[in-house]
Amino acid sequence: MIENYEAIIGLEVHAQLLTATKAFCRCSTSYSLSPNAHTCPVCLGLPGALPVLNRNVVDYAIKMGLATHCSIREYSVFSRKNYFYADLPKGYQISQYEDPICHHGYIDIEVGEEGATKRIGITRIHMEEDSGKSIHDVDIDTLVDLNRSGVPLIEIVSGPDMRTAREAYQYLNQIRQIVMYLGICDGNLEEGSLRCDANISVRKKGATEFGTKIEIKNLNSFRNVEKAIEYEIKRQVEAIEQGEILTQETRMWDAGTHQTKSMRSKEFAHDYRYFPEPDLAGVNVTDAMIENIGNTMPELPLARKKRFVNEYGLPWYDAGILTESQHLGTYFEECCQSLTQQTKDRYKLVSNWIMTEVLRYLSDKGVGIEQFPVTSSYIAELVELFAAELISSKIAKDIFPEVIAGESPKSVVERKGLLQISDESIILAVVEKILAEQTDNVTKYHEGKKNLFGHFVSSTLKELGGKANPRIVTKLLQERLQEVK
Ligand SMILES: [Zn+2]
Repeated sequence: MIENYEAIIGLEVHAQLLTATKAFCRCSTSYSLSPNAHTCPVCLGLPGALPVLNRNVVDYAIKMGLATHCSIREYSVFSRKNYFYADLPKGYQISQYEDPICHHGYIDIEVGEEGATKRIGITRIHMEEDSGKSIHDVDIDTLVDLNRSGVPLIEIVSGPDMRTAREAYQYLNQIRQIVMYLGICDGNLEEGSLRCDANISVRKKGATEFGTKIEIKNLNSFRNVEKAIEYEIKRQVEAIEQGEILTQETRMWDAGTHQTKSMRSKEFAHDYRYFPEPDLAGVNVTDAMIENIGNTMPELPLARKKRFVNEYGLPWYDAGILTESQHLGTYFEECCQSLTQQTKDRYKLVSNWIMTEVLRYLSDKGVGIEQFPVTSSYIAELVELFAAELISSKIAKDIFPEVIAGESPKSVVERKGLLQISDESIILAVVEKILAEQTDNVTKYHEGKKNLFGHFVSSTLKELGGKANPRIVTKLLQERLQEVK
């Protein structure tokens, strides 16, 4: 039954901007343990206090607009969005309603196969301020903390272009990566720096009219976004099949029960009685401003991922991991530039090393690549030592703690005499010794117990202190076992 329907999904994403001060006053946006420490008459909403627009808010909004191929409006205004809530002291939120600063853009998201993309429209991006926070305490009643009141946000509204929960997930992931690459938002969903609401409707396949749109709030993790949308599509289809008439409403995702629950009937724009904010002048954006901001734009995540595949010959998967964070991708490129031999095989070895050893270290320590103590040239040196078969990959892993402690890989290898033994005559002597000592095993091997081969390899490696070249050990063992047959 569900396969006869198609879902129409659009997302509204709020991104908290990383400005030092609030949108309309000089209060700090930094986190404070003391409630209401970062407040002033403006963000407390005291009568007579006047807002002054923070220039960085405009710059960041334009940055996001350019990154999402939007048209940037030459002149836009702020509006008052009126509603009453305990943590909104003015009784209205300063936002943009008609004519937002950025409009009609798009981003490409990854779908299905490697490298395949789908274009999702961006309807608008507007600037607004955050409200405060209500803290509901059963013992003392409700408390209000206004540290967040007036912190700048941009709201990014997509077109109704997504059809599956997976596409919504990919869209949100792409938006998150873009704001982080631009350095305008820290992208943290769990802590609420990035917030996502979804608008979902379903209709019979082939229908041209949209179904009843239902909004879901409280999607505070990627998993919840996907699960909530999947749940909601199923719920709507079942309701329609049972003859129910859906009404526009706002629902809340309950991560505990894995259900969406009705919160309130949907409010409409006229409920907010929008009107232009009389205390703020309009925002003029000049061509020079757009050009200056355009000049500071970094390479964006999807473009970089494609470049890593083309330029370094990396698999799509590797490129995705390495470009997830901008700093990790930069570190990878620095390691590659430090290689003495620039080949795709070596780039892949660098990628493997970063994706396993380096990322394991970072996750164990709970730090980012910016705090990783090993210089890129040491990673290149380490990779080249085992690429040239001067050390085994096992030795490379063994000495990694010393490299992290600050010693160069070459120096550790020399100091501890760890150079790999590739001299065939030395290895052959040991191979012969091992086979002579284990005649019973050799007989069993020839009788069919082929898995004893691994045992011969490990015995030989052990005898040589783990330093023998495993490739040569394997080759010589195969040759000798053929001969003694
Ligand atoms: Zn303030």
